[in-house]
Amino acid sequence: MAIETRPESGAWAPEILSHWIGGRPIEVPPERTGPVYNPATGEVIARVPRGGTAEVDAAVAAAKAAFPAWRDMPLIARSSIFFQFRHLMYEHREELARLITRDHGKTYPDALTEVMRGLETVEYACGLPTLMAGMNTPSVSTDVDVHTLRQPLGVVAGITPFNFPVMVPTWIYPVALACGNTFILKPSSHTPGATQLQAELWKQAGLPDGVFNVVYGGREAVTAIVEHPGIEAIQFVGSTAVGTYVYEEGTRRGKRVTSFTSAKNMMLVLPDADMELAADAAVAAGYGSAGERCMAQTLIVAIGDAGDRLRPLMLDRIARLNVGPGMEPGVDMGPIYTADHRASVVKWIDRGEAEGAELVVDGRPFVHPTNPKGFFLGVTLFDHVQPGMDIYNEEIFGPVLGMVRVGTYDEAIRLLNGHQYANGTAIFTTDGGAARRFELESDVPMVGINVPIPVPVGYLSFGGAKKSALGDLKMRGEDSVRFFSRSKEVTVRWPEPGRRPGLSLVFPSNR
Ligand code: NAD
Repeated sequence: MAIETRPESGAWAPEILSHWIGGRPIEVPPERTGPVYNPATGEVIARVPRGGTAEVDAAVAAAKAAFPAWRDMPLIARSSIFFQFRHLMYEHREELARLITRDHGKTYPDALTEVMRGLETVEYACGLPTLMAGMNTPSVSTDVDVHTLRQPLGVVAGITPFNFPVMVPTWIYPVALACGNTFILKPSSHTPGATQLQAELWKQAGLPDGVFNVVYGGREAVTAIVEHPGIEAIQFVGSTAVGTYVYEEGTRRGKRVTSFTSAKNMMLVLPDADMELAADAAVAAGYGSAGERCMAQTLIVAIGDAGDRLRPLMLDRIARLNVGPGMEPGVDMGPIYTADHRASVVKWIDRGEAEGAELVVDGRPFVHPTNPKGFFLGVTLFDHVQPGMDIYNEEIFGPVLGMVRVGTYDEAIRLLNGHQYANGTAIFTTDGGAARRFELESDVPMVGINVPIPVPVGYLSFGGAKKSALGDLKMRGEDSVRFFSRSKEVTVRWPEPGRRPGLSLVFPSNR
């Protein structure tokens, strides 16, 4: 599929997208849709359905009907559909990336990398016969063997945010489907274009109808998923506020839920760091994708005199940044994804100024010369941000970077480990011993050493702690296999003739 872009002239109406249920698009009347904007121009480019209970009911019914055959499909047959989807996703990577850029605003090269990082998890799931393998232990007792199996849960769901319309869903559904579950995706309504295409690619790959379903919508659709008794498990990715609701209400109803939520990541810079490397990393990790990444580094914790040396190097790089439409070559940073969110980021900058942080670079006055109606914002740099300030405590999710000055490494690690969020962190240093200490002492699950955005490769698990995640298991990798399947332990006796154990009311012994 390709969503139309507005032609230069002539009659034009935005395309109305459809839910995807039972292997086909489900159309909705225009009054049950909301607008999708191109953030680079401010124009409405499509309309997305607002689903609710009826659509979730229909998706659960389709997924339930498809479940037994999908569960029982031979693993190699299931995995060959994954190989085909992998091939199609790779072939359509540029189209997927263009749709991401169009809806989200991030630059095209960034969007293309997003697709490729999502593909890693699809590739991991292609090995599903091995992922689903159990264990077999002969002779655990006289004539008794034990084996374990992994079985799917049934109908499961993913609820995903606006900022990675391909990568985050593809960090969830490949493993869910590989385990033999059928799936309902509730993506963000702000960035729906690439979702439609994913559904169509699954169909082309030969996935049976009803195995993969998409329901669009906001609060009503999410509530329907959380409350639906036919849905066994949910992986949520988004803000802490919504993630907490999904986790608490979902688990209260007996579902498995993990929520991967908001963040405020810190990058420590020691005085011995390679400052050129650290400056590149700080600017890239702070402003890439307009700061709309849960792994963005938003607080630079400069130790000793590192801040004095880092700041001019960062300013030099900031002065060279090109802010503009994400499809234009040479653009480093695109617009904010909605006008409302742009207004919220502006308020955070006002707040930081009022709180007394030093406003070194102010992104608020930026207007893009040829796209004045686009949701653009320049980059902002605060220095001397203090613990206790709201701009220190809270996630802004925009191109706003704060520098915190501390005297020692110990002070820096205290701040890091005392923060309410714990998603990713990084240290910049040339001292292997300091890096090793940091690796062991940091209370954050994803750590980078001279790597600013330490997103693990697709076959490893991903997830935070504290207010950045709710639930025990991470997403992707081995943790996701465990999350999306139930293990069963089977104890088997095939007694040799004449070796019947006989009647005994004693608890079974293995000796
Ligand atoms: P969001 O919480 O607003 O939306 C996430 C999902 O919940 C969407 O599908 C949305 O439609 C739905 N939703 C929104 N408001 C709702 C409500 N009131 N009731 C029920 N459902 C609702 O998040 P977002 O703005 O789309 O994404 C940004 C957030 O996601 C940031 O906080 C970011 O840190 C976080 N995020 C976290 C990770 C991670 O792995 N930890 C990854 C990406 C994004």
